[in-house]
Amino acid sequence: MSEERKMYPMKCSDCGTDSEVPFEPKPDRPVYCKECLSKHRSK
Ligand SMILES: [Zn+2]
Repeated sequence: MSEERKMYPMKCSDCGTDSEVPFEPKPDRPVYCKECLSKHRSK
């Protein structure tokens, strides 16, 4: 049996790109695509 990862469609709060994340996006928190995520994390 192969385990499929549940992906949630979302829109990046920074660049507005449609993407998917492996966790449920919180409505009260911004979600970022991979590129913006690394951008926001490298501070
Ligand atoms: Zn982005």
